[in-house]
Amino acid sequence: MNNTHKVPLKKLLAVFAHPDDESFICGGTLAKYASEEVDITLVSATRGEMGRRMGNPPYLNRESMAAAREMELRNACDCLGIRQLLFLDIRDKTVEFVDENSLSARIAALIHEVDPDVVLTFHEKLGGHPDHCAIGKATTAAFQRTAQRGALYFITFGDAMEHPERYGYSRKDVVKVDVHAHLNAKLAAFRAHRCQTEIDEWVWLPDHEARARFGKYEYFLKADRESSAKILDDLF
Ligand SMILES: [Zn+2]
Repeated sequence: MNNTHKVPLKKLLAVFAHPDDESFICGGTLAKYASEEVDITLVSATRGEMGRRMGNPPYLNRESMAAAREMELRNACDCLGIRQLLFLDIRDKTVEFVDENSLSARIAALIHEVDPDVVLTFHEKLGGHPDHCAIGKATTAAFQRTAQRGALYFITFGDAMEHPERYGYSRKDVVKVDVHAHLNAKLAAFRAHRCQTEIDEWVWLPDHEARARFGKYEYFLKADRESSAKILDDLF
């Protein structure tokens, strides 16, 4: 086999807190890059075992939840085209209480191992949930301590970053990714997280109606606000 002219795979490492963060927040983007042969590694800090949603009608309890959510996340990864899934085995709702230095050291080791072009995580202040903010803070520290060659971006919710000035940012800090061609995969991933989405009737409407609830864009904040202004519609 002649690999001489093979273009090296682009790699993306996503470090989030719970099963479903990847699908609900940036599933379109992950599906888009997976479809472009980007090698994606997803790290979930927890298995989401403290989630309040148990299916509709409920089919889970506290004891069965971690294993079920892990399986549902694996299914969602299949829907999105994510090939590697890792867990940090932190208890749900306790990420903020884990020693920050050791957590960021673990994540730094993963960054070294994966050697990604792009790292995604939560913004440590705009994460919206203590677990999100804590994993974002640790991943940001890990990225800094590895002096990584790639780029770090923060995931954001919905179309909030259509108006970045409300959060102290400007348009040039925002990457706006067109995901309209990947909403089928995003919808499939939502449905894979069955225990979380069964109670949301819109998810189970006919595909075209459910898909219409999604925005056509997903938004990311650049961690390095000084970085040169390349085209702001692509993470790579
Ligand atoms: Zn979450």
